[in-house]
Amino acid sequence: MTKFGPSGNCDRFYAEGYEHTEEAAYFVRENGLDCFEYSFGRGIRMTEKKAESIRAAFEKEGVEISVHAPYFINFANPDDEMAAKSYGYVLDSARMLRAMGGTRLVFHPATQGKDERSVAVDRTCDRLRILRDYIYLNDLQDLIYCPETMGKVAQIGTIEEIVRFCEIDSIFTPCVDFGHVNAREQGSLKTVQDYLDRLSYMIDSLGYERMKNFHVHFSKIQYGAKGEIRHLTFQDTVFGPEFEPLAEALCRLKLEPYIVSESDGTQADDAIAMKRMYENILPR
Ligand SMILES: [Zn+2]
Repeated sequence: MTKFGPSGNCDRFYAEGYEHTEEAAYFVRENGLDCFEYSFGRGIRMTEKKAESIRAAFEKEGVEISVHAPYFINFANPDDEMAAKSYGYVLDSARMLRAMGGTRLVFHPATQGKDERSVAVDRTCDRLRILRDYIYLNDLQDLIYCPETMGKVAQIGTIEEIVRFCEIDSIFTPCVDFGHVNAREQGSLKTVQDYLDRLSYMIDSLGYERMKNFHVHFSKIQYGAKGEIRHLTFQDTVFGPEFEPLAEALCRLKLEPYIVSESDGTQADDAIAMKRMYENILPR
């Protein structure tokens, strides 16, 4: 089943008097949504006890939780010591994710830096193979690791690069941030066919089974010549992308991803809007 939910707590969550992540489970379900993404973007500062408490709340409400690993991850870093920290960020996020009762971990793979693109991408591949080995050594291979498509040209993470990373091992499943793809490609996502082309390529490369429940981030994003500038809300009418053509493409290809809204402050309401659009397209 396709799932919809917010990334983090939206402005309305706080306006309605909620504060804690445990309450997000209730809030998400009350709003007719299905999942929630917790961000360790600025670091992993959570006790096991808090993770257990979050797990209990999300289990009670039947809401699926995923995590976003720290933004500092960079598997293309030429410095091996810095890269070693990146393994730690993923492994620590994975342990917390398991304690929280979730199965999906999203991470930003790398930044190009001063190297040529192909050198940085090859290095990222080598490091992701090492990461894979660490994940198995630590018995964390039952979780799903989602490298994300990125919105800035200087970041590693085109759809083709993400597919290459996922070909390394079945523990990897793509996180496609369509707002990022659209921003990086100067507004390339407009028609149903634009989405069908990219999704068909991913299915052909990774197989339907892996793509069936892939991970999606969706928001409208302002962009310039270097790609992503900032996340917007569904109020935007200039930058896009629009969700309806994606919903149509997902239905045609029988894909049932987890769709997380990363709108700026209106994540839950925009996730509700996407769920409605999707249900209007679903064949009855
Ligand atoms: Zn992200």
